[in-house]
Amino acid sequence: RIQTDPLVISDSFEGYSLTYFNLPLHYRDDLQSVLIPYGFVQDRIEALANQIFADWHINLPEQLICLCVLKGGYRFFSDLISKIQLNNRLHNCRSLPMSLEFIRTRNQPNDQLEIIGLSDLHRLKNRNILIIQDIIDTGSRVDILKQKLEHFQPKSMHVVSLFMKRQSDKACIFKPDYCGFEIPDHFVVGYALDHNEYFRDLEHVCILKESVMSKYKI
Ligand code: 5GP
Repeated sequence: RIQTDPLVISDSFEGYSLTYFNLPLHYRDDLQSVLIPYGFVQDRIEALANQIFADWHINLPEQLICLCVLKGGYRFFSDLISKIQLNNRLHNCRSLPMSLEFIRTRNQPNDQLEIIGLSDLHRLKNRNILIIQDIIDTGSRVDILKQKLEHFQPKSMHVVSLFMKRQSDKACIFKPDYCGFEIPDHFVVGYALDHNEYFRDLEHVCILKESVMSKYKI
């Protein structure tokens, strides 16, 4: 069985030197290191896709509702769905029908979580939902989202997150059903994860230089 538990990147690993990678000029001075190269991310997503296919493929025409949490989850969502579709093409007698939904979450200035797109989700009643999320830190965002989705009375709800952060001082209140990587408690960007809307257009998952946190303002 493929590991749905995360691949653990230890605290002692500081990332790869930037000199080994082809990085966009506009970000080169802002990055400290490459924590997870793009190709490694892809390999891990393929393993997760294979496991999700194995767990959920059904012969009935019942769709798994795949819910993309924008914006940070868009690349993970897109690559994961493509790799599940590849399984659908490769297997003759098994397939996993999917329906694709999108919501957007963002923090309000008063620390409330705003969820955009929930009103379109009434057809979740009695359906199996897979929430596809970029990263889990404290877990509070995905926890609130799950509580809101419960109102639609789905049949089941599972969460796949590409990353989860190992917590030192703050307790993580949520463990996803499937996870790509457990990472040290650094702020990471790239592969659609941003800092104030910058760095989504970076392929590799990178650690930012401390000094950059105040450089990019909205
Ligand atoms: P949580 O509610 O689990 O504490 O936070 C999850 C959300 O915070 C993620 O969906 C993401 O938007 C943001 N986040 C948490 N850690 C990071 C990080 O290291 N990098 C980026 N770019 N976003 C993060």
